[in-house]
Amino acid sequence: MRLVDRVAVVTGGASGIGLATVGRLVEEGARVVIADLDGDRAAEAAAGFGSAVVGVACDVTRAEDCRAAVETAVERFGRLDLMHANAGTPFTGPLDEVDQATLDRVVDVNLKGAFWTAQAAAPALIEAGGGSIVFTASLQAVIARPRYAPYTAAKHGVIGLMKALALELAPHGIRVNAIAPAATETPMLSAFLGGMGDVPDSARENFRASIPLGRMATPRDSADAVVFLASDEARMVTGHTLVLDGGTTAG
Ligand code: NAD
Repeated sequence: MRLVDRVAVVTGGASGIGLATVGRLVEEGARVVIADLDGDRAAEAAAGFGSAVVGVACDVTRAEDCRAAVETAVERFGRLDLMHANAGTPFTGPLDEVDQATLDRVVDVNLKGAFWTAQAAAPALIEAGGGSIVFTASLQAVIARPRYAPYTAAKHGVIGLMKALALELAPHGIRVNAIAPAATETPMLSAFLGGMGDVPDSARENFRASIPLGRMATPRDSADAVVFLASDEARMVTGHTLVLDGGTTAG
């Protein structure tokens, strides 16, 4: 139990990587606020964990929603120790298909949403005497692939944000890091691999075959990385991007 009495907010915590992280945080003794665009699913997911977790509706593109999620953590559980800025939205398509609404949405959620989330968390983390922010970036925050320009640009921006805040918040004892998962088996994967339908077996197989460790990433891979970065074991780690790609970028 590495996070006993710690309190976390997980944005996008009603599904996929966020939901897996909530589960691992609870296993390690933390209490958690799930802050998700889908308030009903956030409440449903929270109910499955009992009194250690509450769910709230939160759109990370709205700074006031982010502040309200942090206020819930402080009111319900007394403090904030970890902000997992995880909410994101996918985009795949060629450059000429990117209209203004699409670019705005992808940047608003993935980059500006991460900014508002971290900004909302900082005062409560300072009040707690220190803590941790972990962003869910992406392998595409570190490398690029064609047909993902808005998403790749936004996620690269998250790494810049993470580094800037690591320096700005270090004097307060707040560590700021990012995870950079490769393609991960979540509901978002179908948007990345094959439009919005079911992921074709061939697309999944091509991805799998390109990964040196020979398997796709799981939400648990990310959740375990977040637990490590939030724990005292990572006490000297800040400004770091932890890549979870099974060796893809080693070659
Ligand atoms: P998911 O679709 O399973 O979960 C995303 C969650 O975010 C959903 O519950 C959704 O309601 C919520 N959300 C969306 N927009 C929001 C908003 N504006 N405010 C608050 N919540 C919002 O997807 P996932 O794969 O678990 O994605 C989580 C994070 O991981 C995202 O940042 C994504 O970009 C990143 N990521 C995913 C993959 C992948 O292959 N699945 C790979 C690398 C990084």
